[in-house]
Amino acid sequence: MDTAVYQSLRDALRGPVTGPGEPGYDEARKIYNAMIDRRPAAIVPCADAADVMAAVGFGRENGVPVAVRGGGHSGSGLCLIDDGLVLDLAPMRGVRVDPVARTAQVAGGALLGDLDHAAHAFGLAVPAGIVSTTGVGGLTLGGGHGHLTRRYGLTVDSLLSADVVLADGSFVTADESRHPDLFWALRGGGGNFGVVTSFTFRLHPVDTVGLGLTVWPLDLLPDVLRWYRDFLPQAPTELNGFFAVLVVPPGPPFPEELHHRKMCAVVWCYTGDLDGLDTVFAPAREPGPPAFQFQTPMPYPALQGMFDPLLPPGLQWYWRGAFFDRITDEAIEVHARYAQDVPTELSTMHLYPVDGAAHQVAPDATAWAYRDAVWSGVFGGIDPDPANAGAVRDWSVGYSDALHPYSMGGAYVNFMMAEGRGGVRATYRDHYDRLARIKGTYDPDNLFRANQNIEPA
Ligand code: FAD
Repeated sequence: MDTAVYQSLRDALRGPVTGPGEPGYDEARKIYNAMIDRRPAAIVPCADAADVMAAVGFGRENGVPVAVRGGGHSGSGLCLIDDGLVLDLAPMRGVRVDPVARTAQVAGGALLGDLDHAAHAFGLAVPAGIVSTTGVGGLTLGGGHGHLTRRYGLTVDSLLSADVVLADGSFVTADESRHPDLFWALRGGGGNFGVVTSFTFRLHPVDTVGLGLTVWPLDLLPDVLRWYRDFLPQAPTELNGFFAVLVVPPGPPFPEELHHRKMCAVVWCYTGDLDGLDTVFAPAREPGPPAFQFQTPMPYPALQGMFDPLLPPGLQWYWRGAFFDRITDEAIEVHARYAQDVPTELSTMHLYPVDGAAHQVAPDATAWAYRDAVWSGVFGGIDPDPANAGAVRDWSVGYSDALHPYSMGGAYVNFMMAEGRGGVRATYRDHYDRLARIKGTYDPDNLFRANQNIEPA
């Protein structure tokens, strides 16, 4: 970037802009997935909406591409761009809870842990993802599912409004009555439509929840999955449980003899009456005796942080996703095969339920295009060692390709790598054309294209 132009960017902003060769640049361009290595022209920490407006204006006027970094968890590194501006929202992490109205205003760079911490003080929560270091921004804009989905729906189903800096530099609030088309698109359409500087969510009463872990040996996987596919969709929405293929982590609460063993599991979260917790997980004995069963009441934010130590920043990640409306016997054979070949200790496959309350929302009410899906699957190849990048990638791709014929065709936008136009279209199905028209209205020149891109119609 020309020196005078670069200086004008620095002058327009409150935060310390960092460019190539400057102190802190290499640290500032690190993101969660260490597989991603890109060199932006400048990294711009945004302190407030005014900084965001200035940086967006600078990018547009100087023809410099723009990427937006919320929590930095995108697997494909969509928050980082070569030779462009990275608008880093990390300084914007404030959360304001109104316990009377039961709403939370959440700044665009907040992490799930920020939101859970603030809301829990009032016995409240927003349904979101299962790792506390994930950004509220990217997760929400893609849809958002986790432990509370069956009870309270997707994250976007609790979104009441969003403050957005648009590509032309203007600032709008989108909700059901103001810019309703934009509000529709923000609820699943990813970061395509502008920079969200603040989200307002409806809060739900969630305080101490029941955690359950049921772990079975791999030879029971076919019986477990057959039982799980029939049991869970009939279960009350107070019960959420995601199925996992995993290697048992070497630490509590798992008994030592299970450490490092490839197994299958269900991770439960129960938001009903905790007095009966012992009986809630009793049906999990039906497919065969678990190798380990654990349950305990737990403050909701503790559950949300439970996986954090296993998944610090700086690991190699390659993931794929897929939606499923059923789990066929043929699909179960594929799961059984790939579960034997989990390539590294952290690699895992999860099937997250997206039914229950998420099915109570009309299919065309939001941009999320899979209200008929029952599970959102992720095939996560993960390892600290860059030498294993190929192995984790191959397992993730092989597993997801093998299951593709038994899937609904597309994947959750937040579980995609760079999968091209076809992948994005499959994610949005018959919502794609409407999204492209809205993109044409709000970002006709596609300034915001560092995302799973919807091209302006
Ligand atoms: P970033 O990389 O910062 O951003 C991702 C995309 O969103 C980029 O295109 C970015 O431009 C855009 N974006 C981010 N913030 C804003 C904003 N304020 N305004 C406009 N655009 C913005 N997903 C689930 O639904 N449930 C889970 O349980 C879950 N668990 C996960 C666990 C881990 C360990 C990881 C790595 C991911 C998980 N995900 C989960 C996926 C997660 O939703 C996506 O990775 C999501 O993109 C992360 O958002 P972020 O803000 O951290 O990412």
